[in-house]
Amino acid sequence: MVRAKEATRSALDIDVTVLRLGHRLVRDERISTHIGLVSRAFGARSLVLTGADDHTVDSIRRVRDSWGGEFEVSYVKNWKEFVNKWKGTVVHLTMYGENLDECLNKIRKELGLKERKALLLVVGAEKVPPQIYSEANYNVSVGNQPHSEVAALAVFLDRLFMGGELYSTFVKAKLRIKPSARGKKVEIANED
Ligand code: SAM
Repeated sequence: MVRAKEATRSALDIDVTVLRLGHRLVRDERISTHIGLVSRAFGARSLVLTGADDHTVDSIRRVRDSWGGEFEVSYVKNWKEFVNKWKGTVVHLTMYGENLDECLNKIRKELGLKERKALLLVVGAEKVPPQIYSEANYNVSVGNQPHSEVAALAVFLDRLFMGGELYSTFVKAKLRIKPSARGKKVEIANED
């Protein structure tokens, strides 16, 4: 039990940035917003959107401002340049990739050797540029069936952080839920 807690604590040290490729105007707004919400709630430190530049960045920031934490959201025009400049491990989630459990062991080992445990987690939209398969250090599948970038992201982060991310506290939260068996209990922080 103590071992599991220790493992979770060191897993939570990993600094994850999610890169959302190919965000399209209007049709991807909702899914990209969900990518942001899941990234934040499941322990990633930041989200970078590429593709169309719209108000998705602002809507994710608004959630962060109410529910707390230091989650960063930004937009980059050139995904390739961003990936090339990344100092750390690059993981691309794709149904064609290697099995999640096998890869996680390799990724953990690799990150364990580095001082800065920075992981760039890439998710696609409808189609991904073929170069991402060679740019990534690992192409990882969450099962080999087509499903969703939101589901793949949530499962990957939860396995990476060993469930510990669900108990994170979010600093400067204006709203905080008190878990309850029935009904909704929400605490509202004093503004002053
Ligand atoms: N042909 C795609 C692929 O390479 O996984 C499916 C496109 S899917 C609409 C959009 C994104 O969801 C993909 O780019 C990938 O990041 C993620 N995705 C879907 N199914 C996945 C799976 N089984 N394992 C990992 N990621 C998946």
